[in-house]
Amino acid sequence: MTVAVVLFTSDLRLHDHPPLRAALKAADEVVPLFVLDTGVHAAGFDAPNRRAFLADCLGDLDSSLRRRGGRLVVRSGPVAREVRAVAAECGAAEVHMAAGVTAYARRREERLREQLGDDGVALRVHEAVITAVAPGAVTPSGGDHFAVFTPYFRRWSQETLRKPLAAPRTVRVPDGVRGEALPDRADVAGTSPGLPAGGETAGRDRYSRWSHSGLSRYEDRHDDLAGDATSRLSPYLHFGALSPVELVHRARAHGGPGAQAFVRQVCWRDFHHQVLAARPEASREDYRTRHDRWRQEGDATDDIAAWRDGRTGYPIIDAAMRQLRHEGWMHNRARLLVAGFLTKTLYVDWRIGARHFLDLLVDGDVVNNQLNWQWVAGTGTDTRPHRVLNPLVQSRRFDPDGAYVRRWVPELRGLDGRSVHEPWRLAAVERAGLDYPDRLIDLADGLARFKHARGRD
Ligand code: FAD
Repeated sequence: MTVAVVLFTSDLRLHDHPPLRAALKAADEVVPLFVLDTGVHAAGFDAPNRRAFLADCLGDLDSSLRRRGGRLVVRSGPVAREVRAVAAECGAAEVHMAAGVTAYARRREERLREQLGDDGVALRVHEAVITAVAPGAVTPSGGDHFAVFTPYFRRWSQETLRKPLAAPRTVRVPDGVRGEALPDRADVAGTSPGLPAGGETAGRDRYSRWSHSGLSRYEDRHDDLAGDATSRLSPYLHFGALSPVELVHRARAHGGPGAQAFVRQVCWRDFHHQVLAARPEASREDYRTRHDRWRQEGDATDDIAAWRDGRTGYPIIDAAMRQLRHEGWMHNRARLLVAGFLTKTLYVDWRIGARHFLDLLVDGDVVNNQLNWQWVAGTGTDTRPHRVLNPLVQSRRFDPDGAYVRRWVPELRGLDGRSVHEPWRLAAVERAGLDYPDRLIDLADGLARFKHARGRD
């Protein structure tokens, strides 16, 4: 009997899973393995919302494997040590896994290659599992990555994606491989009350339901804050419970402008992955420095706390920050607004905002989070780095009736029409009845400080 190990990481699914398919082809029996990596814990990336969602994903993967005659083996510890031990226990000749992008994922791969190599076990790394197009597969002439989205999208759209692989019918797992109890979402403390259910089954259901009603209207409605009309697939993509290759195929097969706009958004994900693959330090450092002297925790303690707590006095910002805390998720337009407000109005370091997002976002990942924050802060890939989104103008445009604000800021529910976006304009006597803070800052003052800091006044 030959045995291969499949190490699952950010690819927690059975459909369209090239490492699993290759392992099943190469060996008679396969050990599907997930390691609760103490390295991820030490780096502070296993925030409660993601830990809970991960528990759902692992539970669902285990159930799907059991229906096929197998099971998921879960271990905890340093990932290389555990993979090596499992490979030795089952006498595996090969370990298959998806290629990662972050510096952490690459170090993990190197360590595995080295340590498994010492034992005579081959590491087989598969590209385009976590992204639709592998980072580095599409490059500009003379460069190692695209720094601007539109030309990347043009080239990315011309790539031929592999046909999505079906989920295997059977998975035979050797006896005697020790596993631990699966983590249980109920054991994770401090999660957001509105957190969605994780797992491949939930993700596939969500796509199917949403694609019937939401996909064709996506182009027109994706910025409607109250309409909440986007797919909400980001956590499933983050954990790889859905395959980006399969999603792009399915959306293209659906066709129409809505599907095209959706595929374009999925391409943003690949775009950021290829940037970070080429510039891993961009997870911490400015991708393009503007020589900012950002305000830090000690200089802006109260402003940062008000932003985090959704008490800035700007209803649209506060609504979004409260949605983040309640759901572990936030609408993309709202993310743009709150990130712009923190960096360009309050002139606070983008890393402080990115950290808070990573503490709460169920889809929070270093690639998309840090690079979107940099895009907004103007230190990333935005071709208009000094643009400032005015939260008032934006709220009138994307929440014209104030329904999004009223949903998340109950103190303002009694206000009608547009006054909900500008409570500071109410008569003093009306304002006094609201338990809602005054504006933290005048937008004009924030803008002047930002322009001055960037040398543009
Ligand atoms: P849809 O609009 O339905 O889009 C479909 C998919 O495309 C998403 O699920 C996502 O995987 C991808 N996508 C859409 N927009 C982007 C984008 N700008 N960048 C990368 N991928 C995109 N996304 C994350 O997945 N993780 C993060 O940590 C994250 N942090 C962000 C931080 C900031 C400051 C900003 C402005 C954006 C961030 N995004 C992040 C991108 C985007 O906001 C979310 O992917 C999106 O809101 C998820 O909702 P959805 O699934 O309904 O998206």
